[in-house]
Amino acid sequence: MTASSASRIDAPHRTPRRPQAWSLALLASQAAVAALWWRYGATVGLPAMLATHAPFWWGTLWPHSRVFGPVLNRLTTDERLVWLTIDDGPSDDTSAILDALDAHGAKATFFLVGARATARPDLVREIARRGHGVGNHSSTHPAKWFWALGPVRMRREIADTQRILSEILGAPPHWFRAVVGMSNPFVNAVLKSHGLARVAWSARGFDGVAGDPARAVARIERDLSPGAIVLLHEGATHGGNVETIRLLLQRLDGLGYRAVVPSPKKD
Ligand SMILES: [Zn+2]
Repeated sequence: MTASSASRIDAPHRTPRRPQAWSLALLASQAAVAALWWRYGATVGLPAMLATHAPFWWGTLWPHSRVFGPVLNRLTTDERLVWLTIDDGPSDDTSAILDALDAHGAKATFFLVGARATARPDLVREIARRGHGVGNHSSTHPAKWFWALGPVRMRREIADTQRILSEILGAPPHWFRAVVGMSNPFVNAVLKSHGLARVAWSARGFDGVAGDPARAVARIERDLSPGAIVLLHEGATHGGNVETIRLLLQRLDGLGYRAVVPSPKKD
C-alpha cells in the first residue's frame, strides 16, 4: 500500500476571481495621492504615495501574500500529513528522487519548468506513471526577473508550460508555483484563464542554494507540522538535492509523517 492510498487529503483549489482588481485600487489610490499632493504639497503627497505603493511591493516580493490573488500556504489537517513539492525539474536528479520516494512509499508534486520538460519528456511521463503530481513552474524559469515581467511575457511563461505539459501528459496541471516564490500584478489574470491555483509553502530548507543536506533538513524540520507544504528543489549545481530528499524522507518516517499529494477541491 502506498502512502497516498492510506491517507487522502483535499487542498482548496482557489483560482483568482478578480485578477484586475489591483488596477482599480491603483487608479483610485493614485488619484487620492495626486489630490493630496496638489492640496498639501510633497510633505503629505510623497509619504502618501509611498504608503500606497507598499502593498504592491508586498504583494510582489512576499511569497505568501494574497494582495493580488489567492495562494495556498498549507493544508488543513490534524493528521501527520505533508505535501512535498519539488521545484525546477526535470533534471539529472529526477530518476534518483523517484526511486527514493518509492522506497519510502511517499508521493510528491513536481513543479516543472516547461523548457526542461520539452527536453526530457520521458522523465515527465515517468513522474506521472509513478503516481506523483505535476505542476507548472514557468517555461524558462527567469529567476532574476520573474517579479518584473510584463503581461505579455508573463502569459507566455505560464501558458507555454500548460501547453507543453498537456501535450506530454494528456491533461494540464492544476497548480502553479511562482518562480522564486514572487508574484506580480500580471500573474493572476493568466492563472484565472488557465484554471490554475498558486501554491507557496510553509517549510523550506533553502536547498536550492544550500548544499548541506543535514542543515537543509534541520531547517525544514523546524517548520514541520500537520498539513505542512514543503518546498524542495532538484538539479541544483551544488549536487545536494537528492541526498536532502533522501534524508528528509528518513526523518519523516521517524517522525511519523506521510508524504501525500492532495486532491484539488474547488471552493
Ligand atoms: Zn524554481
